[in-house]
Parts: sequence; structure tokens; C-alpha cells
Amino acid sequence: MRVPTDPTPLVPHLRGLGTTIFAEMSALATSTGAINLGQGFPDVDGPSSVAEAASRAILQGHGNQYPPGPGIPQLRQAIARHQSASYEIDVDPGSEVLVTAGATEALTAAILALVDEGDEVVALEPWFDSYPAAVAMARGTLRGVRLAPPHFRLDETALRAAVTPQARVLLLNSPHNPTGMVLNHDELVLIARVVAAHPRLIVVTDEVYEHLTFGVRHTPFASLPGMRERTLTISSSGKTFSFTGWKIGWATGPAELVSAVRSVKQYLTYVSGGPFQYAVAHALDHEMAWVDGLRASLHTRRDRLCHGLTEAGLDVVRPDGTYFVTTDISSLGWSDDRDFCQALAQRAGVVAIPCSAFYDPADPVRTLVRWTFTKREDVIDDAITQLTATDLTCHR
Ligand code: PMP
Ligand code: GLN
Repeated sequence: MRVPTDPTPLVPHLRGLGTTIFAEMSALATSTGAINLGQGFPDVDGPSSVAEAASRAILQGHGNQYPPGPGIPQLRQAIARHQSASYEIDVDPGSEVLVTAGATEALTAAILALVDEGDEVVALEPWFDSYPAAVAMARGTLRGVRLAPPHFRLDETALRAAVTPQARVLLLNSPHNPTGMVLNHDELVLIARVVAAHPRLIVVTDEVYEHLTFGVRHTPFASLPGMRERTLTISSSGKTFSFTGWKIGWATGPAELVSAVRSVKQYLTYVSGGPFQYAVAHALDHEMAWVDGLRASLHTRRDRLCHGLTEAGLDVVRPDGTYFVTTDISSLGWSDDRDFCQALAQRAGVVAIPCSAFYDPADPVRTLVRWTFTKREDVIDDAITQLTATDLTCHR
């Protein structure tokens, strides 16, 4: 007898999640043979000393069995030293640092730990795609603070309107994916004022691109007066050291917040990446000069891609951080970013990401497209050659 099955066994409140736009567009690049300027992962690995530290750890038996739940002490200490050396933020490696399976797990565990049914999470919109998923899992409500084009700055009225008495978490991503915007001093001060006026609000920051800024400095929100006690800071080694597959991330902040996140984290993965934790501790202590070189190289690649996209007729919004640049496609006659990205793969042999995936599906912006410059210069140059040789206007 055949057992009848639902068309989808996925619970109703998670049915909107579908397949991530990154998986979808990387599959498009593979099936069309196009150059992939979509998903943000480097095509050159991080420092060899860090890779060697990982292989040494495996061969010498460090971390091959379950590491401690909060992360190995060496890594927690290195993270604490990093926060102190980079930002003069002091955290106790014993109680105020938690190692996670990438920033993704830290973000999801934080939202599951802090958000109850009916609570609201306020995030800068466009947002990274894991945020709506995590908020849906927590059965909370996500409210966007739409960054205003063309420069994607924070709008005070939009921020104040989004933070209601139901708001439990303010989720701040800076440097910001996908726009490349980096919150400036005035914006951070404004946010701190709004937070001070809402005693129930906890701030969760996503700082995975903290070291990838060009000519501006990243300021962690926790470093603002009075905000350390209200803020859980999240980052990851993936972007900083070009090892996105290792998935070593962390959360730092007041012990009560870190402990709440740990309560959830221990039942998501329990622990992960034992040997890689040793390698990332080495990276934080010894390879920050390599990161300076990466930043300089990305700065050059940013300028190269921005110039090439402009030459190809696109309206470029030059980013201050991350490894993404967004373009507005409306002046080429397009009103649907997904149509544009499909046509782009076919016509130019280049894949980019339609930014509508990063907006509230009820009212998305459909005229922005994201391109990554975390690819080798020759790959970027090939993409530019193909783009400038192609008619990118909408034919319909
Ligand atoms: N937040 C943002 C803004 C990101 O771009 C990424 C990149 N994947 C993540 C979080 C997730 O980081 P990780 O790979 O460390 O989970
Ligand atoms: N953070 C990367 C991006 O924005 C990849 C994310 C992913 O594949 N989940 O492109």
C-alpha cells in the first residue's frame, strides 16, 4: 500500500524559504558555463600558514574529537585579543565568547534564543537571506528599515517607524551585504539613541565583513557609549581569512546574552570544526597583516569592477565595504532583476545576484543586481570584456 504524502512536507510557516538565491544562481552559472560573480566566495584560498595549521591540527589529533561546547580556549582567547586590539572592546574569553558554526549559526541561534512568538526583529533592508529564515523559525516578525537608494544610507524616519514596542531585536549588518554600505558615525549615534529609548531592545550585529572596508573604518556598534551591555556582536573567519567553507564564526558580548545563545547553539550543532578552530586561532594571532593585503587587493578589484560595470552601461553604487557592488538596472529598461540575471547569463556569460531576494517578498525592489569582486583580477577582467561586448538593454 502506498502511503499518501503531502506535496511538500515542509511546515506552512517555512514554506516561503525555497532554495537560496546563491544556490540557484551558482547552479545557473554551472549550467550555462557563465563566469560566477554571484555567490560571494573567493576563488583564492586564505594564508597557507592557516591551512597548514588546520592540517597540523588534524594530523596531531587536536580537535578531531568534540571540542568544548563554547569553543576551544585558544580560539576564545584569540577572539578576545582581536576585539581588544582592533576596537578596544574587552570581553572575557571564559564567559563572553562563543564559537559557532559560522556567523549563520550564531545569527540563527541568537534569534531563536531571544525572539518569542509575536516579537519583532528589525533589520536593515535589503537583508542577508538567512535573517528572514531565522525569524520565521522563531515565529517572529521581521520588519525592514529600507536603506534609501542611491547611496543606501540609514533613514532616521524609517528607523524610528520600524522600532515599535514589540521590537525585541535590532539586527544590524555593517559592512552591509548586499549594498556595501558601512554605517557611519552619525548613523551609529542615531541608532544608539533609538536603542536607549527602547529598554526591551537587544542589538545583534552581523560584522562578518568587519575588515573588508575601503577608505573608511568599521566601528562595532558595541563600542558606542552605553551599548556594550545591550549588544551581541557576531563575526566569522570566513570572509576575513578567505576560508568560507570552514564555517568558524563567533558571538561576543555580555555573559547573559552569550549564555542564552549557547543554550540554543548546543542543540543545533553542539560543536563543530574542531581542527579549524586551532587554525583560526593561529590566523587571528598571526595573519592580520595578510588581511591588510587582502583589503588592499579587494580595493583595487572593487575599482576595476565598478569601472567595468560603468563602461558596460550599468549604474553603479560604489561600495565602502564588503566584496559586493550593486547596480541599478532600470536605466537599461529592466523592471525585473531576475529576468535581467537570466538574460545576463545567456547573453554575456556572467552570473550576478538579483537583489529582490533580499527584500520583503510582499514588496521587493526589483531593479538592483549584486556583483562580487572577490574573484581573481583575470576573472573580473574576462567578465568585464564579456559585459562590455554585450547589449544589456531590455528587449521587451
Ligand atoms: N552575514 C552576512 C551578511 C554574510 O554575507 C554571510 C556570508 N555567508 C554570513 C552572515 C554568513 O557567514 P558564515 O559563512 O560565517 O556563516
Ligand atoms: N555570503 C555569501 C554571499 O552573500 C554567500 C552566502 C551563502 O551562500 N549562504 O554571497
